[in-house]
Formats: sequence, C-alpha cells, structure tokens
Amino acid sequence: MILSIVSYGHDVLRQKCIEVEQHDPELEALITNMWETLYGADGCGLAAPQVNVPVRVFLVDSKLTYESMAEEDREYFYDGDTGIHETFINARIAEYSEDTWIDEEGCLSIPAIARDVERPWSITIEYVDRQFQPQRKTFSGITARMIQHEYDHIEGILYLDYLTPRQKSLLKDKLRKISEGEITAEYPMKFTK
Ligand SMILES: [Zn+2]
Repeated sequence: MILSIVSYGHDVLRQKCIEVEQHDPELEALITNMWETLYGADGCGLAAPQVNVPVRVFLVDSKLTYESMAEEDREYFYDGDTGIHETFINARIAEYSEDTWIDEEGCLSIPAIARDVERPWSITIEYVDRQFQPQRKTFSGITARMIQHEYDHIEGILYLDYLTPRQKSLLKDKLRKISEGEITAEYPMKFTK
C-alpha cells in the first residue's frame, strides 16, 4: 500500500523517533508499505516519520542509483560498493569520518528543492536488519550520504538545517508553499500539520 508522505512543516518530521521493540506483523507491514511508497515516489531513501510514524526505521536503496548512473559518474561509490538495498531498524551511528564532501541532496518531504550539503565521507552504523539480526557496518560515499540523510530524519533533523541563514531565508517562500500544499509532488502527500 502506498502511503502519503508528510510535507515540510509537519510536526512529525521534528520528533526524535523511538525504538521499535520487536519484529511484529505491524512492523513488517509498515516496512513493506514504506518500500512500496519509496518506489512509487521514485526515491532512494525513506524514513518512518515521513509516513507519519515516529519510529527508528528507515530504508536506503543506493543500488538503483548505482545502476542508473553512467560508469564515469560512479566515483562516489567507493571501493567496490555497488549500492545497498537495506532496511535499518533502531539504528545508531557509532562513528563519523573526519573527511567530508559536498553533494546535492533533495528530500521527498521537501519537493522541488535540492541544495548542497557537506557530510562526513564515511560512517559506521549499528542497527538491526529486516530479519531483526544485529549488524555493524561501515559505509562510504553516496551510500553513506543517503544513510546519514535518513538517519537525520529519525533524529528530527532535515538537511535544510545545515544551510546557512542566508540560504534558508532565500527558501522561505518556497518552504511556506510546500507546507501549505501549494507546491506538490507526483506522489501522494500529506500537508496537515
Ligand atoms: Zn529526506
């Protein structure tokens, strides 16, 4: 089932999300619906608060991004990484690299806007996967960027928070229009605060 994606301005996007306790049918259904919603929106990552459920669950698919990229653009897929298709449950980022890089990001909750964001090049993350198996893995490059963007969502952080006050003030009018439903996307969205 495709779920509505909440827009910028909705309170749920500012909540620090809670851990899920166990792998139950309700959680499994949420994850299935989130994957369907992600692909329906042609996205590469989605966090549970974006479908109005404030729990520490997010999805990242950098595999599709890798496959759709021209060979010469794959330099930010690092050291044999051909992308991941992964469900992250109860994640905690344990380590961030000191190296950083800048790339453009967008967000399904903030349609029609993309801005450059500086982020650590690699991270080490602890989580449980969809089978509820504990994992500890290190990711770099584009995959690490996508994970950090989604991880921020479960902490109540948006990529806009990294922009300068001037960049933010230039976006003010657009953001108001998004939160009021005047700027929409091709996928179903929820605007009510
Ligand atoms: Zn996002």
